[in-house]
Amino acid sequence: MFDKILIANRGEIACRIMETAQSMGIACVAVYSDADKDARHVEKADEAIHIGGAAPADSYLLGERLIGAARASGAQAIHPGYGFLSENPAFVEAVEQAGLAFIGPSAAAIRKMGLKDAAKHEMEAADVAVVPGYHGANQDPDHLAAEATSIGYPVLIKAVAGGGGKGMRRVDAPEGFADALASAQREAQSAFGNGDVLIEKFILQPRHIEVQVFGDGTRAVHLFERDCSLQRRHQKVIEEAPAPGMTPEMRAAMGAAAVRAAEAIGYKGAGTVEFIVDGSDGLRPDRFWFMEMNTRLQVEHPVTEAITGVDLVAWQLRVAAGEPLPATQEDLTLTGHAFEARLYAEDAAAGFLPATGDLTHVRFPKGARIDSGVGAGDAISPWYDPMIAKITVHGPTREVALGRMQRALEETEIAGVTTNVNFLAALCRHAGFAAGAVDTGLIDRDRAQLVHEPAPSLLQIIAAVQSAAGLTEPSQRAGFTLWSPLERHVEIMHQDTVLDTWVEVLAPDHQRWRCKDQTVEVHQRFGRWMLENTPLPRTHRGAGQVQVFGPAGTSFLLRDPLDRQSDGPAGDGLITAPMPGLVKALFAKPGQQVQSGERLAILEAMKMEHALLAGCDGVVEDVMVDVNDQVAVGAGLIQLAATEPSA
Ligand code: ADP
Repeated sequence: MFDKILIANRGEIACRIMETAQSMGIACVAVYSDADKDARHVEKADEAIHIGGAAPADSYLLGERLIGAARASGAQAIHPGYGFLSENPAFVEAVEQAGLAFIGPSAAAIRKMGLKDAAKHEMEAADVAVVPGYHGANQDPDHLAAEATSIGYPVLIKAVAGGGGKGMRRVDAPEGFADALASAQREAQSAFGNGDVLIEKFILQPRHIEVQVFGDGTRAVHLFERDCSLQRRHQKVIEEAPAPGMTPEMRAAMGAAAVRAAEAIGYKGAGTVEFIVDGSDGLRPDRFWFMEMNTRLQVEHPVTEAITGVDLVAWQLRVAAGEPLPATQEDLTLTGHAFEARLYAEDAAAGFLPATGDLTHVRFPKGARIDSGVGAGDAISPWYDPMIAKITVHGPTREVALGRMQRALEETEIAGVTTNVNFLAALCRHAGFAAGAVDTGLIDRDRAQLVHEPAPSLLQIIAAVQSAAGLTEPSQRAGFTLWSPLERHVEIMHQDTVLDTWVEVLAPDHQRWRCKDQTVEVHQRFGRWMLENTPLPRTHRGAGQVQVFGPAGTSFLLRDPLDRQSDGPAGDGLITAPMPGLVKALFAKPGQQVQSGERLAILEAMKMEHALLAGCDGVVEDVMVDVNDQVAVGAGLIQLAATEPSA
């Protein structure tokens, strides 16, 4: 076995590989770009080497530099993770020429599967069914159009060098073919430097079912299937194993085809054979076709680990170090059901647009496997994939596992960046998904329902305002009670709507809230605020906003006090603190004449200074605080007596 390996990757997959390698007594060398110097994978590593700038082309894609780092550190092997150089045969050759082991397949095997058209020829030779279509060399548009017609519409145009859904276009009728072809070729040329395409029959009601394989270069076994039909923009969102509705015959047929595919190319290490399945009539052994093989560890490998108990990274390390396959096909069994959800920094409602920002609060659920490379204080930068974590659950049945996933998502707390957590939870509640009726069109069809953000509930509003106003902390409550009149007005914004609330602090553990024509009382019990027997959701207050967690979690904006002049709620001349903060400066003395709009004090709150202005012309009667006092929201600061407007 190796003593030391270099991991030519970052983020969650670098952390995940290290976890297994370190537990096997293997020292791990991390590499990092300028953007990653404080990243978790660097912190976890036994050694870390800086390799260049933030852009992948200046760091994680620089093969020679990675190999140099491996040699300098005395590593004996390189694990590529996924993405970056993991499926680059020239890199594999360079690694091997440098006298290092590549933890993955041979360059030749990667090349055979590298282009979709060549892979299809290879698979036809190995007697693995491929999607009916054209994957020849003639790229003349008229020829391709004629092929599309003979395949029969709808068809799918795919870039032969494609990946991640790029360069892919569905065409429903001959009229649309020429334009779709031109745009697919343009996209493929710019993404992969290769504009060639192939054409496939578009499978109606398609399911994406893939088989995990593992080879030693000669023999291979399969570790059952994963269903990855829940996709948006042709990218996986939730994966599960086994596939719903899978029959023993179909599993045997798919497993055997996948093993034939792997053995045909002399595959070594972990790989995935992806099939497209026509699910219009249940799962039938004659209705699945090879799509492509991913010659690396997949993002979604944890679901396979959950149902088989196999650590795929441990297998990778053992086979790369020259050991035989760790198990025979008969040794492998499947237990229960597992799901993985990909938690992304993205705005599902805005077409799944990637989001960036600083993670101000991160709390992952208990009872789930979390694969993540970030925590509170880390940034989701524009440089890399915006995945925050993979959440994997396992249960004895699909129903139990799905329930666990839903709960895990509802307990996930992320503040600082927009995430798809509500979208994932909505997917888990989707009736069709719950029934196992999955296909790749499910998300698109029901998108409006899945991204719908309901109006905030009363519970969420109270939790947000409590947090915004500092009314959850005992120390801040004291000041509040001391200075507040009976009922105080606190406002907060949800999207573009100002929400008015009024609160009375009846006792340190008892508040009465009025909001949206409702009056409710909340009590503190078991250390939590409860509305009758329901706890208020947990919150996190960041600069200018409050994030409310739990089912259908949402964020509220604190209203900038500069938007309006400060005054008591009833025009009583009492200048109060609009939020908890530090009195930075006072410009008022008792007896002083002031004019409406004059600056009387500066309060520093949430790292910003807020000026408090006189709400009317008047005389300062009393100044109740000193500079550097910490004050609670609603605390009375300055008492003005309004002067009568002169006639
Ligand atoms: P990429 O390599 O770009 O990810 P794939 O060939 O793996 O492309 O296909 C991605 C997804 O597109 C599949 O998971 C499936 O949802 C859909 N897809 C691919 N081929 C077909 C097809 N022939 N008919 C219907 N849908 C397809």
